[in-house]
Amino acid sequence: MELAYQALQKYFGYTSFLPLQEEIVKDILLKNDVFALMPTGGGKSLCYQLPALLLDGVTIVVSPLIALMKDQVDGLKANGIAAAYINSSLRFDEIQHIKLELLENRISILYVAPERIMLPDFLLFLQRLNISLIAVDEAHCISEWGHDFRPEYRQLKLLKEQFPQTPLIALTATAIPEVQKDIITQLKLTNSKIYKASLNRENLFYQVKPKDNAYHQLLQYLNLKNHKRDPGIIYCYSRKSTDDLANKLQKDGFRALPYHAGLGADLRAETQDKFVKDDVEIIVATIAFGMGVDKSNIRFVIHYDLPKNLESYYQETGRAGRDGLRSDCILFFSHGDKRKIEYFIEQKGDETEKRVAYKKLQEMVNFCECRTCRRKILLDYFGEACNENETNCGNCDNCLEPKETIDGTFIAQKVISCVSQVRERFGMSYIADVLCGSKSQKIIRNLDDTLTTYGTGKEYAKKQWQAFIRELVQLGYLKSEGDKYPIVKLTPRSRDILSKKERVLLTKPAEEVQIAQKYFDVDFNHGLFEILRSLRKELADAEDMPPYIIFHDSSSKVMATHFPRSLSDFRKINGVGESKLEKYGELFVKEIVDYCKEHNVEPKAINVHDYNPAPGKTMKTSTLQETLELYKQNLTIEEIAQKRNLAVSTVASHIEKLILSGEEISIDKFVDIDRQEHIIMAMSILGSERLAPIKEKLGDDYSYEEIRLVRASEMSNREIA
Ligand SMILES: [Zn+2]
Repeated sequence: MELAYQALQKYFGYTSFLPLQEEIVKDILLKNDVFALMPTGGGKSLCYQLPALLLDGVTIVVSPLIALMKDQVDGLKANGIAAAYINSSLRFDEIQHIKLELLENRISILYVAPERIMLPDFLLFLQRLNISLIAVDEAHCISEWGHDFRPEYRQLKLLKEQFPQTPLIALTATAIPEVQKDIITQLKLTNSKIYKASLNRENLFYQVKPKDNAYHQLLQYLNLKNHKRDPGIIYCYSRKSTDDLANKLQKDGFRALPYHAGLGADLRAETQDKFVKDDVEIIVATIAFGMGVDKSNIRFVIHYDLPKNLESYYQETGRAGRDGLRSDCILFFSHGDKRKIEYFIEQKGDETEKRVAYKKLQEMVNFCECRTCRRKILLDYFGEACNENETNCGNCDNCLEPKETIDGTFIAQKVISCVSQVRERFGMSYIADVLCGSKSQKIIRNLDDTLTTYGTGKEYAKKQWQAFIRELVQLGYLKSEGDKYPIVKLTPRSRDILSKKERVLLTKPAEEVQIAQKYFDVDFNHGLFEILRSLRKELADAEDMPPYIIFHDSSSKVMATHFPRSLSDFRKINGVGESKLEKYGELFVKEIVDYCKEHNVEPKAINVHDYNPAPGKTMKTSTLQETLELYKQNLTIEEIAQKRNLAVSTVASHIEKLILSGEEISIDKFVDIDRQEHIIMAMSILGSERLAPIKEKLGDDYSYEEIRLVRASEMSNREIA
């Protein structure tokens, strides 16, 4: 494993493994078969890429996604690794050339599509090579019980027969327990080790909003946190709505483009390229988009329409925040969308397929309507047990802003009586109609307008009654049976309500829940980050590569936190391997040194422990606490600095962080009111993202510290409003 660590650092620039990576690599080096379930962003590909470098011969990677192959190979080459892919996008002579290189043992990793690997000619060719390892990526495609079955994957069953001595690793990011079993059986991984990493993506914030003028809701979100410059994906159900929405966003000043299968391969490739290269921030897409996109800094994924199942939802939201930084996953939910999907399910021919689809849709809807932790529901679905003691994940809407409840005992009694009176034969809509006193033909015909519960629920609209009923189902006081037209039935707990043994709390009828905005990346220098981002973009354009292949956002943010001013310090940043150090190190270090001089930033030691900040959490460290205590003693920034033996700029940045983390701090004492006004004015003209232009406009009389404090104070005020 010594060698593995060396290679990890040399080629990938990491000093430590993510969970399970080390064990998996070890196992493969011992030539064992492996099944690995790891979430997107969990470092799945490193599990075969690293052994590929240590083992003799070539590693074959089976991947269904042609677009992804190019991306991955580009990424590997940038790290100085000999990689190639063979697929239908290459010319004959290009393929011949790669084959020659393979025969000469000059390639360590080869990507191929599943339909190619089982071609007789290609198999014969592979037999001539020294194959060190076979990796089957997206292995869930082999199972009919999954959401993404691909018939061509079925043939991979024969891999073990063809290459019995070669270790095989199957990898997937989303597979419910049935699918996991299926993969292992089909690929004949009889004695394989099974690794399941937690599917929990702590840095993703999950939120479901009742869909109500979705466009307005969307704009509210995009404007709220200055998302104009953040890359994000908005998923829509149809091609037309994709086009329309992208259009609207463009008119409202966003750099947005549509993406769907109807657009033609060239235009699609161009759009994807623009997104990957940060030339356009928002992609409005049907599900056709994203499979091939390995972009690490996607800051939000919005589901404008309801996804068909939780697998799609998990996978699509999983594209956000691969760099481990906080990212938002927001879904606009309506029952109208559910009906649209049901209509399409109805068009399917195969009955089994229909049943699977209805069931999966229902699970999706349950997720949207739940009142409990969304993360827990997702993890439950994929068969991952949660820590029962941790009832609050701290990063989903239900945990952060528990919905207000009302005493719903009386409401529940009405509903349950009604269900019992109609003899458990109808669905939610009918029961709500009876309670509201609807004069529908069906009710009259059934003589249900004579029931004692008829018309007793006029104080709420039908929609609200349906919401109550759904909640009662979730809470177990009722149950819903049947896939297509679910019928509401009683449960043993229904009786407890009628006999008044139990009190029920129900969600207070709908009120807009504001997007939680407690999260702000505050722990890095935004000015330097922007400069590094531009440099990265320039270099990437020159090499015709996506910017994140040079450095991930997370690496850049660490640079903008610790200001490494020598190559040896720069080398300590996660994501900086030898190849990148050599290629880009000097350029980046120069920018950092210049920036520090210009802005009078002090050096900051890089400890092995703190250059990899925990994602999604802003800890209030003890040094901040100390500054806070002194602030409370009414000291000025200068006095605090003197007392703590720190630079004034450091203390100012403490104050800034404290403000942003929600501490009640008035900056009036630090910045004169008139000056605050001038700064606010400048920010309103120039925007508050970049400080340099603001400083330029205000002149030398104003310091960066002042501007930052005012900005922080403005941000925190806005959050409360
Ligand atoms: Zn939660």
